[in-house]
Amino acid sequence: MGKVLAIANQKGGVGKTTTSVNLGACLAYIGKKVLLVDIDPQGNATSGVGIDKSDVEQCIYDILVEDVEANVVIKETKVENLYTIPATIQLAGAEIELVPTISREVRLKRALEEVKDQYDYVIIDCPPSLGLLTLNSLTAADAVLIPVQCEYYALEGLSQLLNTIRLVQKHLNQSLKIEGVLLTMLDARTNLGLQVIEEVKKYFRDKVYQTIIPRNVRLSEAPSHGEPIIIYDPKSKGAEVYLDLAKEVIANG
Ligand code: ADP
Ligand code: MG
Repeated sequence: MGKVLAIANQKGGVGKTTTSVNLGACLAYIGKKVLLVDIDPQGNATSGVGIDKSDVEQCIYDILVEDVEANVVIKETKVENLYTIPATIQLAGAEIELVPTISREVRLKRALEEVKDQYDYVIIDCPPSLGLLTLNSLTAADAVLIPVQCEYYALEGLSQLLNTIRLVQKHLNQSLKIEGVLLTMLDARTNLGLQVIEEVKKYFRDKVYQTIIPRNVRLSEAPSHGEPIIIYDPKSKGAEVYLDLAKEVIANG
């Protein structure tokens, strides 16, 4: 049965897309069949796996708003075992267009129910907000993975996310779990990073992944080549740590 993981944090630039693309690609590299769902209108996960958005005819928008079947929209990527539901800027309208529609929060869940068992993992790259697109993701998910950037105020805003998760658990998806908290963009040269790690561990305890993602230039270069790090530079530190994370995710069941 496919496990659905939402990668969520309403803060932008914390590593959601980098984690979605590279965790997805590393799980695929290990031999798992993975569906990467891009539900951010910026479509960075889509281009991050090498899909030219101008070539995309139907995207997640059509699934959410036009009731198109997920199977019709799914595309192959250049990574074996990694498939994707792309997003284009068309999705920007969905947040508003969905407001007056019936069962607006469960549209992604319904669509994924038809396909998720064809995959080992379904990974959803959420937008930087707590609007209807993220609500759809949390409602469709078995668990949420929260990337937290190692910087001052790392925990700021997380109470809002945790509150949203509690509301979703209460009203839309009782079985939603917090899969784990991933520390990202650690700058090993400063003490600040270490302080943040301690602070986050104090708060989330055993929910914090042992794998910590350091700042790695290769990780930031890979998207402009449309390649996950495991293809772009498999020997890099970035590839190594995202492979470690994939193994940890698998070990967690
Ligand atoms: P989000 O999806 O949360 O907005 P991104 O994954 O797009 O965040 O990351 C924000 C920026 O930081 C991007 O330019 C990305 O390439 C870069 N980045 C993310 N993680 C790392 C990392 N570990 N090392 C270096 N750059 C990173
Ligand atoms: Mg993103």
